[in-house]
Amino acid sequence: MPVLLGCIADDFTGATDLANTLVKGGMTAVQVIGVPEGPLPDADVVIVALKSRTAPVGVAVGESLAAAEALLKAGARQLFFKYCSTFDSTEAGNIGPVADALVQRLGCGFALANPAFPTNGRTVYQGHLFVGGMLLNESGMENHPLTPMKDANLVRVLSRQTDGTVGLVPFVTVEQGAQAIRKALTVLKESGRRYAIVDAVTDAHLVAIGEAASEHALITGGSGIAMGLPANFRAKGLLPERGDSAAELPPMVGHAAVLAGSCSRATLGQIGFARDHIPTLELDALATPDAGALAAQAMAWLEGKLGASPVLVAASAPPDKVAALQARLGRDAAGALVEHALAEVAEYMVRQGVKRLVVAGGETSGAVVSRLGVTSLRIGREIDPGVPWTYAEPAGLHLALKSGNFGTRDFFLKAFEQ
Ligand code: ADP
Repeated sequence: MPVLLGCIADDFTGATDLANTLVKGGMTAVQVIGVPEGPLPDADVVIVALKSRTAPVGVAVGESLAAAEALLKAGARQLFFKYCSTFDSTEAGNIGPVADALVQRLGCGFALANPAFPTNGRTVYQGHLFVGGMLLNESGMENHPLTPMKDANLVRVLSRQTDGTVGLVPFVTVEQGAQAIRKALTVLKESGRRYAIVDAVTDAHLVAIGEAASEHALITGGSGIAMGLPANFRAKGLLPERGDSAAELPPMVGHAAVLAGSCSRATLGQIGFARDHIPTLELDALATPDAGALAAQAMAWLEGKLGASPVLVAASAPPDKVAALQARLGRDAAGALVEHALAEVAEYMVRQGVKRLVVAGGETSGAVVSRLGVTSLRIGREIDPGVPWTYAEPAGLHLALKSGNFGTRDFFLKAFEQ
């Protein structure tokens, strides 16, 4: 089966988020980590997860083009460039330069841009991106350490990142539905615009925009805009009715465990809940600021505890303790120390027969996946919004990679009840 939709995501958790949306829409999806080298996995959607959001422009463009090449070779009929729902980028890019390179490669001359994700409060109105009730540049994103967003007007933001011109499909048009949107996009393209920011305030808008873009070679946006895409492939007879089976993974077997490295409020709450229900080890990185020693503590504790019901090893700490460790070691070194320790524990767990592993924390997940040598993740059923179970190859185990703030309080137990 050829790939139908080929996606290039500028970060890891964003790739999973997009995959999850498409699986819910009835497409099978595999996330590939980094530019793929061999043949692509068999799936309706392949998502290449890059770390190109804050990479140097040249690297981001080069890797995105290499990913595009692999996806096109595998038969992809449409490409999707996925970025963050808060349009995370700098004046230099990388959204504009990567999109420019893809437009040029595909020879399509035009692409729409839409980061809206109404379920998470990201909406676009008159070209302005809102986070909840706040304009993007008043939402806290103006202080982001790597990609401060100081302008909410996406027409202006994208214009600064490209030598092409940017138009707008406004709310009044989007409200009229797919046909009106398609017409507006065609007018903008014919008048020489390279991009169109498209307003979207509701999921219904996103579905209509997806339908309007059924013939576009390239779509750019957040995961929300993908909601309308599965129906396009079904309408063309390219995608069978898979329903729920799109999310099917190999049967869940083996020992169960949870590793937490996120210090977000949600994760701390989940650890608090787990403490009362399952064997829980809380490592103290401040008392033992040594990755090897922390990992050794965890391995000794795990002795005889691994089995069908989950255990939790957490390095997470409240803000004052995190700040204390960072003050002592520096911010990056503190993060790296904990990531290193948890990756080592993950490797040990897998050696001891863990085949169902939940990891809390985006960076922590990246460290674990890389230590386990995972090259692809097949996306399964959602545990909580935005967090699906996945099946990792070539390691051959089930992984749920939870971005820090996601999931209900009982997540670490609930994940294993599926
Ligand atoms: P999130 O998804 O919540 O942002 P991440 O895993 O991306 O979680 O980031 C959390 C960071 O905090 C990681 O780099 C992790 O190693 C680090 N960390 C975890 N526990 C501690 C701790 N006790 N002190 C300092 N840093 C920590």
